[in-house]
Amino acid sequence: MQQYFVSVELKINDVVYFDNEQTHHIVKVMRFKSEDIVKVVDVNGKGFETFLCIDNVKCSGIVISEFLLNNEMDIDVTLVMALIKKDKWDYMLMKCSELGVKKIVPLQVSRCVVKSDDEKMDKKLVRYQKIVTQACEQCKRNSIPQVTKPITLKQLKDYTSDLNLVAFESAKDKGLKMREVIKSNKSITVVIGPEGGFSDSEVLLMNEMGFNNLSLGKRILRAETAATYVLCAIDALCE
Ligand code: SAH
Repeated sequence: MQQYFVSVELKINDVVYFDNEQTHHIVKVMRFKSEDIVKVVDVNGKGFETFLCIDNVKCSGIVISEFLLNNEMDIDVTLVMALIKKDKWDYMLMKCSELGVKKIVPLQVSRCVVKSDDEKMDKKLVRYQKIVTQACEQCKRNSIPQVTKPITLKQLKDYTSDLNLVAFESAKDKGLKMREVIKSNKSITVVIGPEGGFSDSEVLLMNEMGFNNLSLGKRILRAETAATYVLCAIDALCE
């Protein structure tokens, strides 16, 4: 059953209003009719079955029942992801949203091929949020990951968790393995580098900030693969 997110709190018998994009999807893409039922997730992550009322192109719904929705990971994962090329970035947004990431923080480091452009960033953030929202509607999550404005390493301290890791393929000590570090942490922050990797000084700075080196195995993964790998490993080890 199709699912949509709304940014209000709902209870049974409420009327829910869909935005223009959702209305277009309901009426033109899914070709739903009045009295069809869709799932709506409210601002608190609660799921409700909703009776559609379509009048020409206006679309609303009557909340008829609540259903149990618990499709979130037990661990809050914050992915601090170096900016990479658009198509790979979009792939990472989609896959990590499907895999349960809680927050995605774009990171600007020295070897990023893509430079964050403040002027265009607001528009990009709208596009990023749309990608993660659609991924969460498709995989039936309770909540949508937040994609923040890009940061530099100086601001990394604002995004720490119980466990803080930097994926570094050239760690002399080979770094910790996922299965060694994922224990009963409630929250994890993982930093992934760009196509060109991290400089040694950037890794040193993150180590000094309490980020331990993490190995993702013997092979060198593309950045978007590394991000997906981390979420898959946490999911597999903890769910
Ligand atoms: N330096 C790499 C390119 C960077 S890979 C090269 O020589 O080609 C992009 C990012 O993915 C890295 O910065 C790192 O964060 C992560 N990564 C990829 N493979 C990894 C591995 N085997 N172990 C740890 N991190 C890895």
